[in-house]
Amino acid sequence: MGQYDVSNTGYFGRYGGAYIPEILQHCVEELRHSYRTIIDDPTFTTEFEDLLQNYVGRPSPLYLSRSLSKIHGCRIYLKREDLNHTGAHKINNAIGQILIAKRMGKKRIVAETGAGQHGVATATVCALMGMPCVVYMGETDVKRQRPNVEKMRLLGAEVRPVMSGNKTLKDACNEAIRDWCCHPEDTFYLIGSTVGPHPYPDMVARLQSIISTEIRQQLTAKEGKPTPDYLVACIGGGSNAAGTVFHFLDEPNVKIVYAEAGGKGIESGLTAATLNVGEEGVLHGFRSLVMQDSDGQIVEPYSISAGLDYPGIGPLHAHLVKEGRATALPINDDEALAAAYELNRLDGILPALESAHALAALHRLSFKPEDIVVLTLSGRGDKDMDTYLKYAPAGECPTDFDTIRLNVNHHSDI
Ligand SMILES: *Cc1c(COP(=O)(O)O)cnc(C)c1O
Repeated sequence: MGQYDVSNTGYFGRYGGAYIPEILQHCVEELRHSYRTIIDDPTFTTEFEDLLQNYVGRPSPLYLSRSLSKIHGCRIYLKREDLNHTGAHKINNAIGQILIAKRMGKKRIVAETGAGQHGVATATVCALMGMPCVVYMGETDVKRQRPNVEKMRLLGAEVRPVMSGNKTLKDACNEAIRDWCCHPEDTFYLIGSTVGPHPYPDMVARLQSIISTEIRQQLTAKEGKPTPDYLVACIGGGSNAAGTVFHFLDEPNVKIVYAEAGGKGIESGLTAATLNVGEEGVLHGFRSLVMQDSDGQIVEPYSISAGLDYPGIGPLHAHLVKEGRATALPINDDEALAAAYELNRLDGILPALESAHALAALHRLSFKPEDIVVLTLSGRGDKDMDTYLKYAPAGECPTDFDTIRLNVNHHSDI
């Protein structure tokens, strides 16, 4: 058992647990009781691995970026989750959970989505498995993420707009939980990140841990040893970060750096940097750091990147940061945008805005020439084209980070 493993009662240090209404006790307990047995069962592993390989396209490449390596004076590898089917790491978890749901005899899937990425991944695996799918999505998000709504509907999912609260991700979570409460016997709640009541954070981390399994194998082949000096990942709820660090937690020489969404700056009030500004509280069934006011009311998060603006954080990560095992850097909108333009021009890879936060974090660190850095590129940037075009640096599009950042800052809207 590792030092940072979840406890029997579902805690990572002070964080985690299952704070749920009476009506959900039974199905959460049923899941808690069976998830490890299912995940460790060879028939599950065989089916999961087969789909990861032949449907998702794994293993995802570990790509040595010569240009980033040159800029930062070390060796920088990108773990290419952007090349997965549906364009991000979320599909790993969605496949794993639907296989668990089937084995538990569940007949219907519900999910929440913010930007629509998890909704699309869930609708995709429901199409694959022939299961009915209801996706809750805040009405505000339904309006601003129309292409993903259309994708989900084409895949056969029912998208239910949520009219409560601010009509965004937090409200969609509440509504999905409410649906699950009404149909606890036949419905499986397929959560999109390392959040929610125990066992979800641990289960999602395990399903995403294929990322760190592959990193170890690929580094061994390329560098002659399985461990890097740094792991860097962006963090919203924490699923791509958990997958990246999972098999390295007990190796203290591997430094862990998280890039969270600073928004317009952590002092500005327009931020989603929960690990930097959050305080202990309970949200969506678990105890963690939460963005809240002095009355304990949730403060609406803000980030240019829809996948990172969640007011909570996976309990594993809150624990790792409190313990000093991981560092959380708040990366602002302008830094993320500049880093995205930079990778696009230097390597011909347009990253998701979320992943661009991780790339920008490189500029905040200093490396030794012998350092090996692995950065998880959680997704591709096609979904963010409108934003990238809106802020694209004018004229000849410089490739130098500081100049790009200046250009972005001169744009009136940001
Ligand atoms: C959803 C998403 C994230 C944030 O979610 P995590 O659970 O923190 O990984 C990051 N990157 C991409 C591309 C996403 O779609």
